[in-house]
Amino acid sequence: MSDEINRNTNEYEEICYLCRRPESKAGKMIHIPNNICICSDCMQKTFDSMNSSGFSNPYMDMMNFPPNMMGGMEIPNNQKIKKTKPKEEKPVEKLDRKNLPAPHIIKETLDQYVIGQEQAKKVISVAVYNHYKRIACMQDDLDMEIEKSNMLMLGPTGCGKTYLVQTLARILKVPLAITDATTLTEAGYIGDDVESVLSKLLAAADNDVERAEQGIIFIDEIDKIAKKKSTTNRDVSGESVQQGLLKLLEGSEVEVPVGATNKNAMVPMTTMNTRNILFICSGAFPTLGEIIKNRLNKQSSIGFRADLKDKYDKDKNILSKVTVEDLREYGMIPEFLGRLPIVFSLEELDKDMLVRILKEPKYAILKQYQRLLLMDEVDLVFEPEALEVIAEKALEKKTGARALRAIIEEFMLDIMYEIPKDDNIGRVTITKSYLENKGAPIIEMRGVCALPERDQETIEKKEG
Ligand code: ADP
Repeated sequence: MSDEINRNTNEYEEICYLCRRPESKAGKMIHIPNNICICSDCMQKTFDSMNSSGFSNPYMDMMNFPPNMMGGMEIPNNQKIKKTKPKEEKPVEKLDRKNLPAPHIIKETLDQYVIGQEQAKKVISVAVYNHYKRIACMQDDLDMEIEKSNMLMLGPTGCGKTYLVQTLARILKVPLAITDATTLTEAGYIGDDVESVLSKLLAAADNDVERAEQGIIFIDEIDKIAKKKSTTNRDVSGESVQQGLLKLLEGSEVEVPVGATNKNAMVPMTTMNTRNILFICSGAFPTLGEIIKNRLNKQSSIGFRADLKDKYDKDKNILSKVTVEDLREYGMIPEFLGRLPIVFSLEELDKDMLVRILKEPKYAILKQYQRLLLMDEVDLVFEPEALEVIAEKALEKKTGARALRAIIEEFMLDIMYEIPKDDNIGRVTITKSYLENKGAPIIEMRGVCALPERDQETIEKKEG
């Protein structure tokens, strides 16, 4: 019996004899005679109770058991948790400031993933390049102080704001934390404190403070923390959050809990300096277009430059004409805007861009499906008109490129279900009429249709 218990002992986590927590939860175990393990918390309790009373207590009694009784008290393996296999540690890729990619290289790489948004990609490439040069410069020349280039990104939902920043962080190999401004509240209220964004960044950098201090924090839905118009209630999730973020945006030393987003959690604290952290805020600012239009209409209706009143009504990229005054009118406080010197906008996606998003990016949705079917040695083809139908359907949903995936998932379900049933199918063509529920996809059998080259290759490899 005891042999059985001892067998494979190394595969199992040790368990605290008193509180029964495994070592992954309770931390390193202290071994006492008779194969008993005790976690440091319980050990501490034992000492505490020893000091506070001279009476016998369960902790002490347990330690005084005669050895022959203890032998039978070993915890059997079926009450233990198997140790998770340690993951193979990948070397952490770090941003090499000496080989920092030039703005045009950053933009070229972004082009492979993000469709359109030319101006935004250009602005962000230059700003990020300058940001990391600034860090290098300040490290070499301690007297030099270059201002930080935090950014504010405007653009309708689903146009690629988050995706752009995610891609950027991947290119630069810097840690990225994505948070939502709506979850933040003034310290002391229900919700996360503004400092919680730093904890997330620290976690993204595997608790490496030095790396985290040069990372990127992306705060989405920043328009939701605009100052509320009514001033009767205390605005704990709007203006106060903007106030709270000021010191982070500018650069300050902040106490951050390690491994939790809450300061009250019993976790160790560390200090992080936000001076070199790049903050990118983003929001859809839904009514900002109206504010800009009103301003422009007011300007253009006076004097020689008088224009037609509805000149800007159809302007889809009205957000690109934004000024700091418009943002102030929207409810962003001047101090906050002052710390986000780079303001730029992303365009609303049109039909052509949506079609390109379907097929062109490195991990385009269509490529993903083609790859999946290729594993069944089936070629998936989309008629160009079919792609247009998908884009039109997505436009109706008004959620930008986000709608594409949902639409494709819907009509691909049947295909992904049916195709693997028949080994003879060689090619499936998605047609416009199939998407409009007027027809079926074209199915071609192997042998009838020429197999795509890459399929031939896979087959040859298989046979070989
Ligand atoms: P938001 O602007 O609301 O932050 P996201 O960046 O989260 O939107 O976009 C949602 C998804 O749509 C992304 O994951 C990406 O796959 C796709 N997408 C959006 N815009 C583009 C674009 N311009 N190029 C390529 N993919 C895009």
